[in-house]
Amino acid sequence: MCIGMFKKEKFEIVTDPKDAEIIVINTCGFIQSAKEEAINTILEMAEYKQTGSCKYLVVMGCLVQRYKKDLEKSIPEVDLFLSIDEYDNMWEKLAGLVGAKKSVNTLDYMNRIVSTGDTTAYLKIAEGCSNRCTYCAIPYIRGPYISRKMEDVLVEAESLAKSGIKELIVIAQDTTKYGIDLYGESKLAELLERLCKIEGFKWIRFLYAYPESITDELIEVIKKNDKICKYFDIPLQHFADPVLKRMNRHSNGESIEKLINKIRKEIPEVILRTTMMVGFPGETEEDFFELYEFVNRAKFEKMGAFKYSKEDGTPAFKLKEQVHPKTKEARLNKLMKLEQKIAEIKLEEKIGNTYSALVEGITPDGKYYIARSYMDIPDEDGVIFIKNTKKIKMGSFVDCKITGVREYDLIAELK
Ligand code: SF4
Repeated sequence: MCIGMFKKEKFEIVTDPKDAEIIVINTCGFIQSAKEEAINTILEMAEYKQTGSCKYLVVMGCLVQRYKKDLEKSIPEVDLFLSIDEYDNMWEKLAGLVGAKKSVNTLDYMNRIVSTGDTTAYLKIAEGCSNRCTYCAIPYIRGPYISRKMEDVLVEAESLAKSGIKELIVIAQDTTKYGIDLYGESKLAELLERLCKIEGFKWIRFLYAYPESITDELIEVIKKNDKICKYFDIPLQHFADPVLKRMNRHSNGESIEKLINKIRKEIPEVILRTTMMVGFPGETEEDFFELYEFVNRAKFEKMGAFKYSKEDGTPAFKLKEQVHPKTKEARLNKLMKLEQKIAEIKLEEKIGNTYSALVEGITPDGKYYIARSYMDIPDEDGVIFIKNTKKIKMGSFVDCKITGVREYDLIAELK
């Protein structure tokens, strides 16, 4: 939206920060690693004040919401910090900084500029979160879950389709809770069905599904609609009941395993991604072993894992029995080593199969196109390197046959 406001005021949008006079950084302050990444990005971008064209550096998002005062003191290179509370007056503040007119100042989803290329766009269906997992600061930073009205979401989706977007990625902190606050029940399944009716999209995905809110109806809608990618991203965090309970997660090991088995049975070609956390306060060797064994059984095609970090203001901050950093590190390494093996085997199983893939780039030597199939979400998952044997337009879909595996990526040839 911020970029959309600049665009509306006839500022030219550039993608290389070296060329930008105004650099805007959106930050995440959810866990320690995200905070570190955000701070590194701010410092990296601040360098462009010396080496590039940058005159103004603006930082916004969750990190600012949590630590504005500290950031103002410690990073004076930044000209404006915008916390989420200030978004209503966002343009006024930005215009004041860069000397532009102050007339435009509405948080308007229709003004947004798609910053993910010409083919893929994210569609946010809700703000905030009411789940209150005890380790997570998001409900305190972003506030309670507030769904956008379905009609508004559909209008935005239609405009994205008209602008040529082919892959729509539906997001919220927890997409499965969509509509409960507005309509008294989850409306994700209905929303996905209505999105499928919009002409132009080839792929529709949704991310971040809370396990116990995945209903049979939702699985059925995904199963029967060709446009919906057979891909579930279900951040499970853990498997051992005592840990899930202390995390204030509402599922347990048994219900999680049942769900995974049901999805695999109903949609055999499904790709399952999850996120796990190790070293939550009180996690014993037995708890970790249960998690490890579950990951070994569930065979997630994709999995991310991170170490628990103490976050100010969260209930888990006060929990005793913190796990020693070395133990956390060892558990993380052990779990990720297991997942690497699983992911490799899962990729090898794809050799010989043919997939429709979205071509998004080309390697510097021109030998391979870089593409993704329904099995890969942008930036998180691997890609398919397709041998360059004929000219292909960027943003087009091609059929390719998988011939090999390279770490987390696949190699293919055109069909
Ligand atoms: S579901 Fe839990 S982890 Fe995810 S944003 Fe909400 S509170 Fe945080």
